[in-house]
Amino acid sequence: MAKIMETNGSCPYCQKKFSSYNASSSDFGSPIRRCRYCQKEYIDRRYHEIAVEGWNESSLNPMNSLKVAGIGLIGFLIAGGLTAYTIYTKGYYMMKGALAGILAFVIMIVGIIDFIRVKTGAKQRSIEKKKTESEERLKNREYAMLLAENGYNVPEKYL
Ligand SMILES: [Zn+2]
Repeated sequence: MAKIMETNGSCPYCQKKFSSYNASSSDFGSPIRRCRYCQKEYIDRRYHEIAVEGWNESSLNPMNSLKVAGIGLIGFLIAGGLTAYTIYTKGYYMMKGALAGILAFVIMIVGIIDFIRVKTGAKQRSIEKKKTESEERLKNREYAMLLAENGYNVPEKYL
């Protein structure tokens, strides 16, 4: 049995901090990473092995991207409208309101880009590619066993 320790932003072995670590981010890829300081392997649960964990079908639903864009648009209209209103009527604006408007605008753009990627099939192709890479990794039985030993529900065919 080879139990691997998990990271929570720093290496569980040498304790060095990973500078670009963002706890709330997530991506597809192997959760087994190697520390660039001490070269020991650790598990990063932010990375998801598609062949084992699957992926969320709803991420390919264009309605979900439109919802994100819509929420951004509403936020932008409210915060942006309020900011424009105070500028024109009172000659000043609240920084927080302006920032909220900019943030909402960015959310709207992210939603629109996601919608386009779903509609053109670019997102699907990207996920298919990552899925193939994931399956290739799992064909290495040693790797599949290692994931299974560390609590991953690895499909029988890989073991
Ligand atoms: Zn380390």
